[in-house]
Amino acid sequence: MKLDATDLRYITSDEFRVLSAVEIGSKNHEIVPTPLVVQISGLRNGGVNKLLGSLAKRNLVARVQNAKYDGYRLTYGGYDYLAMRALSKRDSMYSVGNQIGVGKEADIYIVADGEGSEMVLKLHRLGRVSFRTIKEKRDYLGKRRSASWMYMSRLAAQKEWAFMKVLYEHDFPVPKPIDHARHCILMEAIDAYPLRQISDVPSPGRLYSKLMDIIVRLADSGLIHCDFNEFNILIRRDSGEPVVIDFPQMVSTSHENAEWYFNRDVECIRTFFRRRFKYESALYPRFQSIKSEDDDKESQGFRLDVMVAASGFARKDQKTLEEYMEAVKGGEPREDNDTSSEEEEEEEEEEEEEEGEDSQGSEDASDDETGSCPRGPQDIGAEMAE
Ligand code: ADP
Ligand code: MG
Repeated sequence: MKLDATDLRYITSDEFRVLSAVEIGSKNHEIVPTPLVVQISGLRNGGVNKLLGSLAKRNLVARVQNAKYDGYRLTYGGYDYLAMRALSKRDSMYSVGNQIGVGKEADIYIVADGEGSEMVLKLHRLGRVSFRTIKEKRDYLGKRRSASWMYMSRLAAQKEWAFMKVLYEHDFPVPKPIDHARHCILMEAIDAYPLRQISDVPSPGRLYSKLMDIIVRLADSGLIHCDFNEFNILIRRDSGEPVVIDFPQMVSTSHENAEWYFNRDVECIRTFFRRRFKYESALYPRFQSIKSEDDDKESQGFRLDVMVAASGFARKDQKTLEEYMEAVKGGEPREDNDTSSEEEEEEEEEEEEEEGEDSQGSEDASDDETGSCPRGPQDIGAEMAE
């Protein structure tokens, strides 16, 4: 989807009021009835209809005709707009550049501040689940799916922000967090390539140790990344140093499946190094040896998982997000699928049509970011048998 920075500057204050009213109304209504928009915005009836019309033309809201009543819903575009407007009001960002990443659950853009310094804007898109799994997951997401994408995307951004901040402040190699609003995070742009795109490194052994050290240091601080793979490790162009990104799925080492997640992160790196660089080492970290160490640290207050919990990302939110992610990711394909077959794409398109409302996400159906690792503890048997 295109993000248009010029829109940030040219919206009237009445249009903004109406757009905000649709956002507020959608907390309790999947389709916000027009009279409610009128009521919340405090504007005149006739005026609101016209304003809704012009917002719909710009795809910030969408008109939905329902058996019971007609109304409007906020689109991804509308939600993006509100978040970017908040960021630009605070002078955190000024203009939007190219899209550099499309994931199943986020879009990544290069943006700039008033001085032209580049940053990365990550927009979380949790409603846009793997199209193949929508069918199975429909029961879980149920009728609330369209109403919950905003909420889930915002939770993911809040969580990612909380983790990125705590990690950055404790000298982990992660991008510097700059600002966040709604479902968006603004962070330092790293001049790097994802490890995935790198065919040669000067010393695979050295990089391997660095990555394992990061996994261990994280666990020593009470954290597991849970998606520590070649897509989420960037290699700086100048120094070759690794930078870790993508934190919405991180868990505490006190999580009931902590060991499984830890081993999977370790295994992802081992497998990747074996396949890509033909590098294999008998040395790799075990969860057991870490567990005993961090028990001591808990009493000394070094636990970053505890700090994140204290930072305002509530346990309840964490649970909601985790359940969602497990439900959605549990069914994702486990193989590399750089070339997703035509059949799959057709199926995805079909799903898109069925879903109707989410047409904005359709260009992303061919995304290949499907790590080579199993997605949930339930997949362990299949993967370990390899
Ligand atoms: P997703 O949830 O879609 O996997 P990521 O946070 O992993 O989102 O980002 C997707 C891609 O965007 C990365 O693989 C990387 O190429 C690029 N990217 C993300 N953050 C940055 C950053 N701070 N600097 C440079 N590139 C980034
Ligand atoms: Mg990623």
